[in-house]
Amino acid sequence: MNQVTATPANHDRPRPHLLEAGVDRELTGQREPLPTAVVGRPDMSVRSLWTAGVRCAAAIVFLIFGVSKFVNHAAELASFRHYPVPAPGTFVYAVGVIEVGGGLLLLAGLLTRLTALALAADMLGAIVVSGLARWEIVSLTLAPVLLAAMIILIRFGAGDWSLDRHLAANIGRHRAAFLLSFSRHPSLQTGDPRAREGTELVGRARAITCGEPSGGDPQARQAVAPGADPVSTMSARSTGQLMISAGRAPADPPLNGPLPGGRSAAQPRVVVIGGGFAGLRAVRELRRAGVEVTLLDRRNFHLFQPLLYQVASGALSPGEIAYPLRGILARQLNARVLLADVAAIDLPGRRVRLRPQPGGVGAGELPYDWLVVATGAGHSYFGHDGWARHAPGLKTLEDALEIRRRILTAFEAAELETCPERRRPWLTFAVVGAGPTGVEIAGQLAELARDTLRREFRTIDPGEAVILLIEAADRVLTAYEPKMSAMAANALRRLGVTPMLNTAVVEVSDRSISIAVESGDVQEVQARTIIWAAGVSASPLARALAEASGAELDRAGRITVQPDLTLPGFPEVFAVGDMVRVSDGAGSTLHVPGVAPAAMQEGRHAARTIVRRLARRPAKPFTYHDKGSLATIGRKAAVAQIHGAMLSGLLAWLAWLLVHLYFLMGLQNRFIVFVRWTVSFITRGRGSRLITETATPGDTAPLAATEGVTQ
Ligand SMILES: Cc1cc2nc3c(=O)[nH]c(=O)nc-3n(C[C@H](O)[C@H](O)[C@H](O)COP(=O)(O)OP(=O)(O)OC[C@H]3O[C@@H](n4cnc5c(N)ncnc54)[C@H](O)[C@@H]3O)c2cc1C
Repeated sequence: MNQVTATPANHDRPRPHLLEAGVDRELTGQREPLPTAVVGRPDMSVRSLWTAGVRCAAAIVFLIFGVSKFVNHAAELASFRHYPVPAPGTFVYAVGVIEVGGGLLLLAGLLTRLTALALAADMLGAIVVSGLARWEIVSLTLAPVLLAAMIILIRFGAGDWSLDRHLAANIGRHRAAFLLSFSRHPSLQTGDPRAREGTELVGRARAITCGEPSGGDPQARQAVAPGADPVSTMSARSTGQLMISAGRAPADPPLNGPLPGGRSAAQPRVVVIGGGFAGLRAVRELRRAGVEVTLLDRRNFHLFQPLLYQVASGALSPGEIAYPLRGILARQLNARVLLADVAAIDLPGRRVRLRPQPGGVGAGELPYDWLVVATGAGHSYFGHDGWARHAPGLKTLEDALEIRRRILTAFEAAELETCPERRRPWLTFAVVGAGPTGVEIAGQLAELARDTLRREFRTIDPGEAVILLIEAADRVLTAYEPKMSAMAANALRRLGVTPMLNTAVVEVSDRSISIAVESGDVQEVQARTIIWAAGVSASPLARALAEASGAELDRAGRITVQPDLTLPGFPEVFAVGDMVRVSDGAGSTLHVPGVAPAAMQEGRHAARTIVRRLARRPAKPFTYHDKGSLATIGRKAAVAQIHGAMLSGLLAWLAWLLVHLYFLMGLQNRFIVFVRWTVSFITRGRGSRLITETATPGDTAPLAATEGVTQ
């Protein structure tokens, strides 16, 4: 087994000399006037103008409001009579102080977002208490306008012409810059003139080496000429690329370059593999740490797996449950995202090996000081991988779309089929596994058939569809209390699902599923659509890590990590999420379910441990906090176990809705999903029932290959 020292050794590795010269001096705290030739004039953009305009106009109104509270105290006191406060006189003065102080801060553009937050609360109070309660015209006109202005300032910050910006620029990368200004470092803002010019310059300088050795832009050539010092004008990344493209820098592989945000190359490099619940949480937890984070994922989006079944059943569209990783991390300046498929990890060499992306780019090795592996899990067919073709599992967006295609195509095929004998298998759906995913997909299938599609077909009655939920255990939802399992089974039956308990799958084909029932008899059920929701198998990287570190693997292929989530012998390597189980340090493992909250807690723990170790503090063992379990069955039907309390029916269903909306990524997605659910609830419709994918030969339900379909 490979031994490594407890503290990653190469934090103090030498920087490439030209990159060192190229670090933006503002970022390192040394300020210099920026050469106008490269920087250009101060940004006179429309956005700067309107944010300053909004800020100053609002500041003046607040100042007038505030001063009036002192000058016309008696009149103001009368208008505050509706406020439910014990000492209205003092309250009026307090609001006056907030408005005068807030107005002055807004004028200066100091602590703008915090100030806007306080003033927004002030306006909200005005609207709710005096406006809506007493229909006072001032509160119902000016207050919403001011509230909107405050929301704009909270969203966009103070703008370029403000003390916030000035302070942030002076303080550089220090954490206080964030606290003081409550905004991002100016040179790192999208649209910042320096960043823009730096990027443009890089583009132009690239022409020097990309096919036009003597061409390129003269300014760019000058910028990279020996002795020139354009470097303080642009981000370190731009500089690095510029130097490389001009042939002045050692040809570092681009993957090994510093961050786009211009962080110092001397910061420890944290590589996180996997932008799922665990990996993404680790990255976000490191947002204030003095490290460079690189998030690698083979997909460019974070997928909210708990709602995959809604895509599979046509209730939601793929884009509503997935969110681009770049978008999520756009504001986290110490993190970059790379679309990368990790092929292998060299633990002793501290390198991650990447497969080439389409077009041949992206292959190479990425060094790390700290590594967090969070590549999740896939399906397990318990040694029958051939079944995967006939019974797709539900793990990726592609899986969900494939299942949706098969389900909808089956109804279409049944409508086309004239022979009742041959029609029945098209209307028979078998879901294997009665865990939360199986229960949810079976419930959705039943609602799709009985509610949504009911009046849409002319030959068949989709409501006659047979939905079998096959489970080897003696109850559904085995992770729940038996009472909840029974409730869930009853709710499923009411929807028209047939739970088949104590039943094991022995064979799967494109036309049928063979099951061994409790008596031991094997029955063959003709079913054209089979969905696999039974087994889970950890990401292949778990096995690779186990082989390299000597860690144990369980039957599901999960690697056993140390109590602090590191690999044995590799304290700089963490593995988290669905791909691991956690040792309790006493020869056993902790009970950590394969659910999103557990993955997030592990990701957060790994990140915090990195921060602790960098501060030379000892690591703590991971502890799992069970926040409860929720599973939905259908409309107004769900079960929940939260800290010993058991809920079912409407209450559990509402809790399920709220929790899923809360954890869904992206405000827009939350809003759209909420609207979709509301509309579906009222109309029982499903908006995403398109069969868009081409059927591949040999699939279970391609219409073209349908035997007996009347053409
Ligand atoms: C259908 C379904 C329903 C679920 N419902 C719930 C629920 O209701 N409640 C709940 O709490 N949990 C639920 N879960 C479980 C929950 O989604 C998982 O526990 C959680 O996603 C695990 O997070 P993770 O970060 O370990 O893995 P994932 O979220 O799977 O993320 C792994 C990431 O790694 C990337 N990756 C994998 N291999 C590589 C590679 N070689 N190179 C680069 N990137 C790679 C993947 O693209 C992916 O983005 C459900 C899961 C499924 C499948």
